[in-house]
Amino acid sequence: MTTRFRGITTREGMLLRGPAGWGELSPFLEYDARVAAPWLRCALEAADQGWPEPLRGTVPVNVTVPAVGPEQAAAIVRAGNGCTTAKVKVAEPGQTRAEEEARLEAVRDALGPAGRIRVDANGGWSVDEAVEAVRALDRAAGGLEYVEQPCASVEDLARVRRRVDVPVAADESIRRAEDPYRVRDLEAADVAVLKVQPLGGVRACLRIAEDIGLPVVVSSALESSVGIAAGVALAAALPELPYACGLATVQLLTGDVVAHPLLPRDGALPVVRPEVDLAALDRVRASRDRADDWRARLADIEALGQDQSS
Ligand SMILES: [Mg+2]
Repeated sequence: MTTRFRGITTREGMLLRGPAGWGELSPFLEYDARVAAPWLRCALEAADQGWPEPLRGTVPVNVTVPAVGPEQAAAIVRAGNGCTTAKVKVAEPGQTRAEEEARLEAVRDALGPAGRIRVDANGGWSVDEAVEAVRALDRAAGGLEYVEQPCASVEDLARVRRRVDVPVAADESIRRAEDPYRVRDLEAADVAVLKVQPLGGVRACLRIAEDIGLPVVVSSALESSVGIAAGVALAAALPELPYACGLATVQLLTGDVVAHPLLPRDGALPVVRPEVDLAALDRVRASRDRADDWRARLADIEALGQDQSS
């Protein structure tokens, strides 16, 4: 990875090849077989079945602005491959509200009045902090599209949602297949952030989206272009796609496994399935030991699946 993210500097995963193409299996290393089971279903869907027909030819994506100073924030937006939506990190420990406001003002200047700005607190605020912060940041940004995961728990998301006018998006609150239904039942969010691997694939996410009746933002789990293509397939197959997706993350990786990585142009990703390039694959191939670990991991997840179906 180009920078540490989620506490990791190396992103590991496995590619599976089937009759329909390549699938990516890349559950984070701390996940046990049970948590990783839907990630395998997503990879097998890609490899064995392929995806439903797309309803659109491109998927708009956001540029991501980390908790940096205003000059750097503006520079990231200007270098954002035409993205007109920016997701700005807030609630960073040790930073002040004034720093966040300066960042948002700089992003607004760089995007212009027609751009959209969302903030992501990654669950970092209490309910009261969130209510105060959202009002201040909405003013500084000249209007927020939504606030993502202002608090850690679903209950607190619901409390914040009742006290602010800015829409609330649930991200970390949706990690397992049953989570989106809790978000819906508690009326905790206006927007659902869905990731194809943890939720079991493109078709599983399409069902969830239909069931919960909330607008969906498709986001990545920091996959290679093979895994990102599954997220793009979901975004392309959703009946409605009112928001830019968080799928422009391939640039956070120093390498990829395809010849033509899924990077945004004019603020959007093309709805394509990039071919794995064996030379590119060789450049990021795991050591023999790591590959053995991943084969063992795959066997564990498969064994769990057989237990459940017998
Ligand atoms: Mg988020």
